Amino acid sequence: MAADGPISPPNVYDAEPIPEAARAEIDRLLASGDLFRYTAPEGAPVALLEAEFAALLGSRYALAVASCSAALFLSLKALDLPRGAKVAIPAFTFAAVPSAIVHADCVPVLIEVGNNYRIDIADLKAKIANGLDAILISHMRGHTSDMDAIMDLADAAAIPVIEDAAHSLGTTWSGRNIGTIGKVGCFSFQSYKLINAGEGGIMVTDDPEVAARAIIMSGAYEQNWKKHPGLQNSFGHWQNKLPLYNTRMQNLSAAVIRPQIPELSRRVSDGRANHDYVAALLNGSPWLEVPPALPQEVRAPDSIQFNLVGFDSDADALAFQDACKRRGVGVQVFGLSEGNARAFWNWQFLGELPDLPQTRAMLMRACDMRLPARLTKPDLDFIAEAILGAAAEVKG
Ligand SMILES: *Cc1c(COP(=O)(O)O)cnc(C)c1O
Repeated sequence: MAADGPISPPNVYDAEPIPEAARAEIDRLLASGDLFRYTAPEGAPVALLEAEFAALLGSRYALAVASCSAALFLSLKALDLPRGAKVAIPAFTFAAVPSAIVHADCVPVLIEVGNNYRIDIADLKAKIANGLDAILISHMRGHTSDMDAIMDLADAAAIPVIEDAAHSLGTTWSGRNIGTIGKVGCFSFQSYKLINAGEGGIMVTDDPEVAARAIIMSGAYEQNWKKHPGLQNSFGHWQNKLPLYNTRMQNLSAAVIRPQIPELSRRVSDGRANHDYVAALLNGSPWLEVPPALPQEVRAPDSIQFNLVGFDSDADALAFQDACKRRGVGVQVFGLSEGNARAFWNWQFLGELPDLPQTRAMLMRACDMRLPARLTKPDLDFIAEAILGAAAEVKG
């Protein structure tokens, strides 16, 4: 490796090592075989994770489950929405989000998204006027939509808000933790998120009825709900009245997650510094634009998104993507990569898809690249130079 930078492209896909502290706890679990969260009378790793996560976010209740998608599904079920309820989502999200709505027997209503990757408030307002039963707001890639405007609209219409904060752990909005502003917030521990357990999710809420219902439906059968603190009055009523979807977290996952919680603030600040460093370099090009954070928002990015400016044809955008690849940097234009799960026109399971010209235009020029917190300054310079060079090659 040259003293002044990497000679080979940085690997942006690998995760960080799991903290060494996980090992002793995993060995203990393997030795005892105590993997099910409800076997131990108290102090199971999953229960400890829930207590720690609730404290971290400042929420009353946390429920750890198999994935963020499971948390979104349980949130919808716990809100007791009627079959066929209309649930608004931003049209720029991951396919698992409309899937969770379908799974909960509700109907997703896709809302336009702007060039800054955030939900279009005017379109949301118009669609609320046409009748909506809930809002599920994906802060896609950690870009926070305007929670002040969303909560005002939702409160006026008396409909609940679920926050899909899968990619927003550590993000704040006017000093409040994202995921705690709506009625329920859902997070992911899938490997490409800030805390990595391979798979896993968690939901937080301050509402005891929502928490009790979700806990039972996650699979707290018989008296197992007694191992969730602070809800005894709510549970008795719901026991045996709700289906058990059995989408619990197991102890090994919690053992991998818990030692990463103390790493979070470092990952957040390093990830943000990396992002802002590359963003400033890219914004120096007339052909590239990284939308700024909203004024209320302090972000926790582990990836970067930017728009191609003045790329009139798809062919130019594809040429840019190829030029990045030749320079060793994998940049994806969301709408131009085959079958991308974040392009709404690929969600064929929804049946007839709406025409959303604004979101479509954004997806056809918006680029995506992972930028994990562990990258070094030479890595970041390599990436920025490759992207700037590719833009100049195509447009210069
Ligand atoms: C990753 C992600 C999900 C899905 O999370 P899983 O834990 O894999 O189910 C949902 N929404 C967003 C915005 C995500 O980034």
